[in-house]
Amino acid sequence: MPTDQPPVAFVLVVILFALAEFAWRRRSGRGYDLGSLGANLGVMAGQLVSRLVTGGVVAAAMIAVFRLAPVQWAMDDWRTWAIGFFVLEFFYYWQHRFSHTIRWLWTAHAVHHSPKEFTLPAAFRLGWTGTISGAWVVLLPMALMGFHPAVIATLLAINLRYQYFLHTEAVGKLGPLEWVFNTPSHHRVHHGSNAEYLDTNFGGVLIVFDRLFGTFAEERDDEPVRYGLTRPVTSNNPFVIAFHEWANLWRDLKHVRSPRGAWRVVFGRPSDLETGQPTGPATRPLALT
Ligand SMILES: [Zn+2]
Ligand SMILES: [Zn+2]
Repeated sequence: MPTDQPPVAFVLVVILFALAEFAWRRRSGRGYDLGSLGANLGVMAGQLVSRLVTGGVVAAAMIAVFRLAPVQWAMDDWRTWAIGFFVLEFFYYWQHRFSHTIRWLWTAHAVHHSPKEFTLPAAFRLGWTGTISGAWVVLLPMALMGFHPAVIATLLAINLRYQYFLHTEAVGKLGPLEWVFNTPSHHRVHHGSNAEYLDTNFGGVLIVFDRLFGTFAEERDDEPVRYGLTRPVTSNNPFVIAFHEWANLWRDLKHVRSPRGAWRVVFGRPSDLETGQPTGPATRPLALT
């Protein structure tokens, strides 16, 4: 799958599935928030622009690190792709996990978790500041292991395109597939703001690393998923959505009283900083000393 060509077939499939889901939601009485859909598309447009502007930095870093690799995997060997798939899944797991557990990385990733309605187009609500916050650095060791940046980019594109189909309530549990693969059920849990579901199911195509590293959570009938953030964003303005967590970070920093407190705000675990209260200078006392 060449990554430098417009993915026309994928775009058509995306539109078709989104329309089918729209019809299903309306028919099943779930409704469809068109304001949220507009926000998804607006954030997607901004993310494409930000990738165009800053993506070169990531590519240059990947190529520089790849040149240092003691061995290099041949791109025309199928084993490179087969092994690379599992290696990418491993590093993606950690990139995604760190994006939830390190506040600095969460600033960009929180954008993806902002929709309160779980629909296919919500998959495209992706942060604009990922290059600056730098979660991609977690993938650099893969280049050092000798995987060409084009292999990494292609495998990552497959991983992310697969995940588009996970953002839906239309698909229930999928039997034995749930053991190995990330599924709509697992990803619904990942998007839950329920305390029981926070910081779970970080996998991309596979769910095995969550099972292995203790971050797996099963979707439960007695615990319906509450989508969105614990401190929700109410606006559908793409700019507000894209920068709200940076604003929260800045607001929290103004309340710290020591370098250690500042370190915890910037690099601590976001869920440890949560008070469950709306953010605001008067409503969010942080005892960060
Ligand atoms: Zn996430
Ligand atoms: Zn998602």
